[in-house]
Amino acid sequence: MVIPVTEKPTPASAYEVALQQYDAVARRLGLDPGISAIMRSPRATLEVNFPVKMDDGSVQVFTGFRVQHNTARGPAKGGIRFHPAVTLDEVKALAMWMTWKCAVVDIPFGGGKGGVICDPKRLSPAELERLTRRFTSEISAFIGPDRDIPAPDVYTNAQTMGWIADTYSMHHGHFIPAVVTGKPLALGGSLGRNEATARGCVFVIQEAAQHLGMVLPGATVVVQGFGNAGSVAARLLHQLGCRVVAVSDSKGGIYDAAGLDPDQVLAHKQKTGSVVGFAGAESIGNAELLELPCDVLVPAALENQITEENAGRLRARLVAEAANGPTTPEADRILYQRGIWVLPDILANAGGVTVSYFEWVQNLQFFYWTEEEVNQRLRQTMQRSFRAVWEIAQAQQVDMRTAAYMLAVRRVADAIQARGIYP
Ligand code: NAD
Repeated sequence: MVIPVTEKPTPASAYEVALQQYDAVARRLGLDPGISAIMRSPRATLEVNFPVKMDDGSVQVFTGFRVQHNTARGPAKGGIRFHPAVTLDEVKALAMWMTWKCAVVDIPFGGGKGGVICDPKRLSPAELERLTRRFTSEISAFIGPDRDIPAPDVYTNAQTMGWIADTYSMHHGHFIPAVVTGKPLALGGSLGRNEATARGCVFVIQEAAQHLGMVLPGATVVVQGFGNAGSVAARLLHQLGCRVVAVSDSKGGIYDAAGLDPDQVLAHKQKTGSVVGFAGAESIGNAELLELPCDVLVPAALENQITEENAGRLRARLVAEAANGPTTPEADRILYQRGIWVLPDILANAGGVTVSYFEWVQNLQFFYWTEEEVNQRLRQTMQRSFRAVWEIAQAQQVDMRTAAYMLAVRRVADAIQARGIYP
């Protein structure tokens, strides 16, 4: 089991936030009201209540969801979350954000998301497997390589995806790896998928640095969250010559003005369970860490970290959102006014879904790429997307998030328009 992506549930208002963001952009784009209304609602929502036999012989009923927000540009794509605080509202918001993320990087997918209300920490591996397989069975008519392709999210991992692929394949009588991404390599997972989110984030940081006149070798970096996205981002930036002065996890942070070696910090975390206590570094709180002076701040943990309350005190030049939703809309406005550049989540962490797309393509073709090919195509995708967003930001004099939304919503609207309304 991977470390949880979020310890704190997304606020219940996640869908309201998603709608507010969408409405603002829809108005700005002057969309046709009918087309706009289509994108405002999820195209399909499935709720299932299903039994799982527990290890003690009892039966427990779980509730799960799968939401397809929009499929105008291709099959729905998005993770499955196992978390006690999952709600339909949250899943609808996450599905909508996936639609925009796939459109920003121009991969032929719509947006989807799924979740099961459960606490995986309290389930045995066997119970988790039975839960995953029964949930897959319940949603199997809804998903598929041509209609809706899940992936890992909070508290799910490559093993979970392996069980989903196997269950779906057993229903169909033959192996269908393309039904999920983020699979183990042994089942057709893609090389480079584990590092893809951080690598994509670093590619867009490199693009932004050029515009800011920031020289990355020697630039100072602060990373909040030292999990999959954060630890790999720290390592890649360190390899580029940046000085990673502070990192943190749920237990706290560490600071060293001379720079930390992310590989050594990771080894320490693997041994002790946290970055805290790393030899030679000072302790620092997560809130304090966000306010450190630095060139690049990478939030890579939770949502709602940069808020109206602390945005005025940030001293970064560039914020690259590896996490989903780390900055509130109020904080966005403050950072923009203060001239702090934000690379928004739907662009900055889209490397993960981009390589998921590559995995799906490889599965459909039964033809596998080298890691170099994966990384090179990822670089092209991230550079192209950054430039498209940057041009809109310049032309419209808007922040990068608004520009990314404008690009994404316009692309989805164009697809809906081009397909027409059936019948
Ligand atoms: P992860 O579980 O591997 O890592 C999360 C890290 O955050 C852990 O180190 C955890 O200790 C830390 N953390 C938890 N609470 C914290 C707190 N209060 N303060 C500081 N750190 C805290 O998860 P991940 O896959 O790296 O995901 C991190 C973020 O990136 C999430 O917002 C996720 O949605 C986003 N994201 C991840 C991917 C991906 O492919 N992994 C893709 C897109 C977006």
